[in-house]
Amino acid sequence: MLNTESFACTGCAACFASCPTKAICMTADGEGFAYPVIDPVTCIQCGLCERVCPALAAKNKKEKDEPRPVLVAAAKLRGEGAREKSQSGGAFFALARATLAAGGVVYGARLDADMRVHHARAETEAEAEMLRGSKYVQSDVGESYAAVKRDLVGGRRVLFCGTPCQVAGLYAYLRGDHDGLLTADLICHGVPSPRLWADYLAWQEKRHKRKVTRAEFRDLSAPWGVSREALWFGDKKVIDTVFATLYYSRLALRPACYTCPFGKEQAVSDITLGDFWGIEDTPLSDFADSRGVSAVVAHTEKGKEALLASDMELRPTAFVDVAAKNPNLTAPTARPAGREKFWEEYERGFAGVARRYGGFTPKNRLKRIIKRLLRRN
Ligand SMILES: Cc1cc2nc3c(=O)[nH]c(=O)nc-3n(C[C@H](O)[C@H](O)[C@H](O)COP(=O)(O)OP(=O)(O)OC[C@H]3O[C@@H](n4cnc5c(N)ncnc54)[C@H](O)[C@@H]3O)c2cc1C
Repeated sequence: MLNTESFACTGCAACFASCPTKAICMTADGEGFAYPVIDPVTCIQCGLCERVCPALAAKNKKEKDEPRPVLVAAAKLRGEGAREKSQSGGAFFALARATLAAGGVVYGARLDADMRVHHARAETEAEAEMLRGSKYVQSDVGESYAAVKRDLVGGRRVLFCGTPCQVAGLYAYLRGDHDGLLTADLICHGVPSPRLWADYLAWQEKRHKRKVTRAEFRDLSAPWGVSREALWFGDKKVIDTVFATLYYSRLALRPACYTCPFGKEQAVSDITLGDFWGIEDTPLSDFADSRGVSAVVAHTEKGKEALLASDMELRPTAFVDVAAKNPNLTAPTARPAGREKFWEEYERGFAGVARRYGGFTPKNRLKRIIKRLLRRN
């Protein structure tokens, strides 16, 4: 029976999706991360949960030479204003559009009206629009793996986009690749828990005495590279940096993220998507752009073909140029020393954590008010 205390469970939910008796339930721990919990009454001890677990397989795998990427490029979605709703160069949306145009379906993470992040299926461009943009919290894959399988069996082409562990989880559930399946994972800094996001929103709602009706984890109106979130309380937009500061502090990431075996040069997906940070210091400096440039790394011929056929301007480059300013392309985020203390203090309330770790200090607030007033005059 799966014992998640013996390895770093990523919460990919491949075990949950695979269990033949539905004995597994994904349940949040104290920090708010979902882990599989097995009902001993329904469990038939078949061991499938252990066999499909990609984290266990990675733990037991011997290091071996794996193929190098087949294409590394800087990329931008073509078209005036086309990248405005994307986090960087719009690579995901370019792949999504091509998949939909071929009669396929797209899976990715969306933020619902109730501010919950979960994987969803898109069959139209309007639905795929909802999947655009990075959500810096662990997405709930729910029943997506089974839905992907149904689509593939039904002869549909599928694009699945998620974190590296989710792509590994999908392949584990499917027990391998399928002709009609194209996967894209993200260069991944790690994921905070849904609890952190929910507590942050509740704290903001208390401060503003209104419900959050819309959110962007990375304010799309900010210059590319500026990390700040945008929240809407009805028609009032508020820009803040507390959640972004907590995210980049590394203190609230899932424990498994610090030892992630998936986000490496030999990734599990057909294509890895990321931001081309530092492009101005590479031979592609003329391609740099204030709206953002994607870094795309194809690991398979299928991935390379999809990139070449998409509606993107591509500039091939060297892997080292992308990796130079993007450490998570080759290694997981390091576990910070104060993580335990952070979660101890968290239990005393979000307001204290926002002050101590999220930069919500009187000095910073004053600075922001002065900046705002100067901008107005
Ligand atoms: C948690 C997280 C950490 C990241 N860390 C880095 C990093 O360290 N370096 C870097 O270069 N890039 C990182 N990225 C990726 C980056 O923010 C952009 O998403 C990426 O460059 C793709 O941009 P785009 O314009 O092609 O696509 P976009 O239109 O922005 O689409 C992004 C795609 O990612 C999916 N997605 C969004 N949020 C999640 C989520 N929580 N879980 C699963 N899938 C999701 C969406 O469904 C969509 O398919 C991270 C993204 C996430 C979600």
